[in-house]
Amino acid sequence: MARVYNFNAGPAVLPLEVLEEARDQLVDYQKSGMSLLESSHRGKEYDAVHAEAIANYRKLLNCSDDYAICLIAGGASLQFAMVPLNLLGAGQTADYINSGAWAAKAVKEAQIVGQVNMAANTAKEIPTRVPAIGSLKLTPGAAYVHLTSNETISGAQWKSFPKTESPLVADMSSDILSRPFDINQFGLIYAGAQKNLGPSGIALVVIRKDLAGRVADNVPAILKYKTFIEENSLYNTPPCFSIYIMMLVSRWMLKIGLENIHRRNMDKAAKIYAVIDGGGFYKGTAVRECRSDMNITFRLSSEALEEQFLKEASKAGLKGLKGHRSVGGIRASVYNAFPPEGVDALIAFMRDFEGKNG
Ligand code: PMP
Repeated sequence: MARVYNFNAGPAVLPLEVLEEARDQLVDYQKSGMSLLESSHRGKEYDAVHAEAIANYRKLLNCSDDYAICLIAGGASLQFAMVPLNLLGAGQTADYINSGAWAAKAVKEAQIVGQVNMAANTAKEIPTRVPAIGSLKLTPGAAYVHLTSNETISGAQWKSFPKTESPLVADMSSDILSRPFDINQFGLIYAGAQKNLGPSGIALVVIRKDLAGRVADNVPAILKYKTFIEENSLYNTPPCFSIYIMMLVSRWMLKIGLENIHRRNMDKAAKIYAVIDGGGFYKGTAVRECRSDMNITFRLSSEALEEQFLKEASKAGLKGLKGHRSVGGIRASVYNAFPPEGVDALIAFMRDFEGKNG
């Protein structure tokens, strides 16, 4: 079997050993005589998976019992709605920092629920960037402040986070657990799993428990964080197999260690940026101080040349490098599980392509 180098932005590459373990256990899970796909979500096999997933993510995020870890189907887009439904009370204002396409989607959902103040807006700026912390126009007494830690499409990433009086809420979908950070700076974080954590269609949500009490009575139970906390994410039948994969990924991360994962991510990104910065043939699309270690975005001198680049890269086994359909260009997504050898293959290809076409 030949595995390609998979630069997809999400769903994205998973650790090979996770896939192999899941394959080996697929039909007869731990000699139970059935697949985990067929097992009860209240049975002892799944129960152990669920408990380990939550415990491992608690360990990886280094968070105390003041926080609850919830596993919620619906992906990050559901969280765009759940955050204001739970935290934005009548008559209150939420501050949103608009740094790009994903932040803008979160804003749109919050505006349906309540009052939104745009604390900064760099969404349309080129080159792309996240706002400077000093430029934020925050509302005193805001219900919360929302930011997007890494803009997956534009490739702009917060390198440090603002200290806010109101609870800070972050969409960390595309850089969760790619680097250590202090969870205590946040009231709530959420992440669609399909980049660094596992399959699509589910989000990891970490919420300071006291914030879950804010929710109004007329919010349906399935949309309340309170329900997920009280029922340990087993109020409804959870996406058991997705959580199983997330559990295996959490084991893999614990084995490597977050510091090592971070170091490896920085090395991978630095190598690609060095080629981009090398000769002017490739043009990075994000400003240097906030360019992403996860989604590396760049352009060539024409769309025709970009098309040729993608075609030849694909032939060389480098897949998924096409930029998001809304912006075009090239995007190399190099999440935690993306192997360093794949980065070496990409930079060799980039140098070769530049040599032939520069
Ligand atoms: N936020 C960010 C930063 C994302 O990259 C994505 C998906 N690419 C989403 C939210 C939406 O996630 P989902 O499709 O899981 O709803």
